[in-house]
Amino acid sequence: MARRFRTGDQLWVRERNLAILLHYLWEASRPVSRAYLTTVSGLNKVTVGTLTAQLQSWAFVRESGMSEPRPGRPGVLLDLDPDGGRVIGVELGVGFISVRVLDFQANTIWARQIVTGDVEDIGQDQQQVLAQAESVIAEAVAKARAGDHRLFGIGVGVPGLVDRTTGILLFAPNLRWRDVPLQAILAKRFGVPVVVENEANAAALGESMLGVATAADDFVYLSAGVGLGGGLVIDGKLYGGSAGFAGEIGHMTIEPDGPLCGCGNRGCWEVLVGPKAVVQQARRAAAEGRAPELLALSDVAGQVEAIRMSHVLAAAAGGSAAVLEILDEMGRYLGIGIANLVNAFNPGMVVLGGMLSLAGTYILPRAQQEVDARALAAPSQGARIVLSDFTFDACVVGSAALILREILNNPTAWQPRLPPFPEAAEGNQRTDSAL
Ligand SMILES: [Zn+2]
Repeated sequence: MARRFRTGDQLWVRERNLAILLHYLWEASRPVSRAYLTTVSGLNKVTVGTLTAQLQSWAFVRESGMSEPRPGRPGVLLDLDPDGGRVIGVELGVGFISVRVLDFQANTIWARQIVTGDVEDIGQDQQQVLAQAESVIAEAVAKARAGDHRLFGIGVGVPGLVDRTTGILLFAPNLRWRDVPLQAILAKRFGVPVVVENEANAAALGESMLGVATAADDFVYLSAGVGLGGGLVIDGKLYGGSAGFAGEIGHMTIEPDGPLCGCGNRGCWEVLVGPKAVVQQARRAAAEGRAPELLALSDVAGQVEAIRMSHVLAAAAGGSAAVLEILDEMGRYLGIGIANLVNAFNPGMVVLGGMLSLAGTYILPRAQQEVDARALAAPSQGARIVLSDFTFDACVVGSAALILREILNNPTAWQPRLPPFPEAAEGNQRTDSAL
């Protein structure tokens, strides 16, 4: 029988404390003294000394200069060793693949994005896109390993439901893919650990570890791309729900008799606030002669069908009344949905990413107004809506962070060399194969 409550022996306590110190170093994101780590962790000085020495020997941590001269002995400062290893983040999007190599301080070493098809052309050839993905990831692997650096692993964000235990992409509606064993395919091809996660969840992790939400323990991440995705961080952790499928909030019903959604239901949040809906309305306005300024844009050149979200934003920036009205309506529906989430989860922050962050200036005031009016908590205690700084990169950064998170949570399992016991090597294949 699986034990429900885990007890800890000395080894476990040591592993936990190593992870805690690494987390504090990550959070500080600047060189800090051992005295600082002693204060924030509550561990004693000797333990901090032993554990940081261990983290240094694993090349997760390095000595980085001396503290400001003060009375007494100046302290040596520690920070994460950028050369401790590299991680790769991959966003397998609808119509594109984005790849990044980060060092252990999460600095970008290399980045590339390739186009794989038209965003509006739903259903993309799986074999072809996977071959393109493997080829661009192979390039990233070569960049990551250049100079004999260790590659820890590859994190992948995908637009669909993922079985977290097997890394199988179960269903990606906008790609029309089902049951793709992504983790197995990529782990076999590249020989490193691979973690696969839903794109919005990966992006939420990116915001939580590296973005605008680093200080928020409870927040909702919302991003509109082809669909509308959401990720929930509760108590500092990505919330997956009972089977890892939480966050499919784009399909909350907002208008029972609203427009038909790709999922088969009517009036889903996604069909009311997604860029697809906005572009459709903009095209209608242009066709009906209400938005001549849209048709006048040079790359639209009078063709209603040529109108894309970028044109809508350009027309909004130019003050088009018809377009601003469409975006205001989008902000209204966005706010109604957010108010529902606020009432359910009481998040301290709502982060808008992707296209929503670009449209932020036009939709945010109305959205915040709806939230303040509809959410039950007083506006001062309610959720603050903020725009992501990553715009379209939260997912690819967050995908790399999937691997960084694993290391921070248990550095012992990711140490460069394991004791030469066969059992240990077998039980820790992920570390073994990452050498
Ligand atoms: Zn739907």
